[in-house]
Amino acid sequence: MNFPDLILNRKIWQRLMAAWETGKLPHSLLFYGPPGTGKEGHAIEIASLVSCQHPNEKGACGKCGGCRKVASFQHGNVYLILPLPRGKGTIKKEDDPLKGLKTAQLEELRKQMAAKGKDPYYRIELEHANTILINSIRDLRRKIYMTTSEFGWKVILIFEAEKLCIPQPESANALLKILEEPPDNTIFILVTSNVASMLDTIRSRCQQIYFPPLSDEQILADLIEHKVPGQQAGVIAHIAGGNIRLARELAGSFDTITGAIELLERALYDSNPDHWQNLISHCTVLKKQGNAALENFFRAVILYFRDILVFSQAGPQALVIRQFEAKYKQLTLKNTGVPWEQLIHQSENTLRYLKANGYVPLIITTWLLDLQSILNQENRLYFNLTEW
Ligand SMILES: [Zn+2]
Repeated sequence: MNFPDLILNRKIWQRLMAAWETGKLPHSLLFYGPPGTGKEGHAIEIASLVSCQHPNEKGACGKCGGCRKVASFQHGNVYLILPLPRGKGTIKKEDDPLKGLKTAQLEELRKQMAAKGKDPYYRIELEHANTILINSIRDLRRKIYMTTSEFGWKVILIFEAEKLCIPQPESANALLKILEEPPDNTIFILVTSNVASMLDTIRSRCQQIYFPPLSDEQILADLIEHKVPGQQAGVIAHIAGGNIRLARELAGSFDTITGAIELLERALYDSNPDHWQNLISHCTVLKKQGNAALENFFRAVILYFRDILVFSQAGPQALVIRQFEAKYKQLTLKNTGVPWEQLIHQSENTLRYLKANGYVPLIITTWLLDLQSILNQENRLYFNLTEW
């Protein structure tokens, strides 16, 4: 393999390899599914397999000139298409798509492509790259019908392929014409984490392959292999929700998880109103970073409540965030009879409202009020009963 670090989806990979070996690999493939499942990595592995001089039973050898050129995106037969910034109106119809980029942007792109060549889960992401430019497709059309210095098959990788269709589908329509009459010995691999935004006409031209989220066990094993301490790895595997890229990011910043929980605790259990404001500001910043950032925060919070629920029912054995054991003990002693599952439920709902673009301060305030009401109601009931 070209990426020793890629967690293969064995079922998909074996199917693709068998198709390639028997000459039945479809001309157009669409890899779709949630982020952090290795879709781009698998696509690059296919490009490597097709270009490899000494493939073995696992796939590409990862060592020959062909493999090395694919991994550095310098193979004459492998084209990478991805969203690019539009530049400042200087780009003409027949221009190279990179012409609109400034030197610093080109440098950044090169740097990120080099990182991608080493890490299949690295996400190439240029600022203002909101669409796949029509010039990229025109440029592709010019190149793929020409003969190149390299023998063999051509592979066209299209990352974030939904951006062929966003905001306008002009690039998708231009690509469609190529897909309808593809040149010989050419394989298109479109990759997207947002298949719902893709035109049906494009989707129906491709063999669609779904990449499911990785299992918690796969993520845990990967983190342990990367020397993440066992206890942290367990927490991260829970929060990452099958997204290996997210898991590795969280491993590098584990204190963001514990930090999220501490922020919430202060807002919930300390009467100083500044803590509410801090939590609102924090979530406002997360919302600006995107829904994924909000989701990480709420996953940590939900895991925390779930842990308390587990602790209150079964004790410390099944805890995920073990370092909080003393904290859980204190909380469950202080808050007997609290329906912790309601706190989980409220937090899940709140995340849904926030993702649907609600007004962050209002939603977070309502959430905190709801949580406090659940906590206090039970306390009141408890105290009343004991007074009685
Ligand atoms: Zn090779």
